[in-house]
Amino acid sequence: MNMPKNLFSESLVFAVDLGGTHLRVALVDDNGRILKQTKQETPKGDSPEGVVAALVAAAQNWDDYKQAVVAASIMVPGAVDCDKAVVLQAPNLPSLVNYPLKAELQERLGWPVFLENDANAAAVGEMWLGAARGCRDVVSVTLGTGVGGGVILDGKLWRGSHGSAGEIGHTTVDPFSGLKCKCGNTGCLELFASATAIVRMTRESLSQFPESRLKSCELTAEKVYEAGRHGDELALAVFKRFGTYLGIGLANLINLIDPQIIVIAGGAVNGWDLFAEEMYRQVDERAFRTTAQQVKIARAECGDNAGLLGAARLARGSL
Ligand SMILES: [Zn+2]
Repeated sequence: MNMPKNLFSESLVFAVDLGGTHLRVALVDDNGRILKQTKQETPKGDSPEGVVAALVAAAQNWDDYKQAVVAASIMVPGAVDCDKAVVLQAPNLPSLVNYPLKAELQERLGWPVFLENDANAAAVGEMWLGAARGCRDVVSVTLGTGVGGGVILDGKLWRGSHGSAGEIGHTTVDPFSGLKCKCGNTGCLELFASATAIVRMTRESLSQFPESRLKSCELTAEKVYEAGRHGDELALAVFKRFGTYLGIGLANLINLIDPQIIVIAGGAVNGWDLFAEEMYRQVDERAFRTTAQQVKIARAECGDNAGLLGAARLARGSL
């Protein structure tokens, strides 16, 4: 069936957020409007066929829109070769590593297929339609289970010479901590400024705060945040530490890149009220003064959709 043209803009992108836990698919028009969206658990297993079949099924469900789709654009939590559209490394999606995703999907969907790292896509989404609208030098930092980063320089996504630019989460902020990161380094930012870090740092300090309400509950980052909002001293100390290390990481970024804006995204950004003061203090103390005074540090605006929107934008080229 042919849809009347005025129901959607000229062209649509079939945008995919292929996460370790959830698989989300959306149809995004050229203004960034999401016309359709689905979410399911990411198919597991040793073979990528489950993921491919789920994407083909989603496309078939939206058959009415098929004529308007110009590309499929997929973001994954891992390192990718964008030219070949191959996943190089993805701890949460091992079956996709080195799998010829592009060839398989192009054949079964019939559209050109693009692949991008999730943090890079999120940075593009925020520049297109979020907190970094109108900016050309943008760094986005995603504080989730780990810490991701995306860098946009002069309006272009900067992937690096080997496809691994923007890994701010694995820059060293405390070499003497003795804490080993899964990347092999010691003292990475994500060991101090992620949701995982909030839980670990709380557990480590429980004995110093015998009065804390967190003593008798199963710890999650959300519970630590709630406790902090109610003035719990342990939670406040944890978020202060979180802000300290985040601020150190951002000061390094500011001196290296001199961005117009740093966009902070991810679930742990909910603790903003509890960590921002210390974050700003560290930036003020450590980054070049005139730069630190001018760079904007802002919360993300696109929420969970930043990556989907960024993927859709990337498929339209010139980034
Ligand atoms: Zn690391």
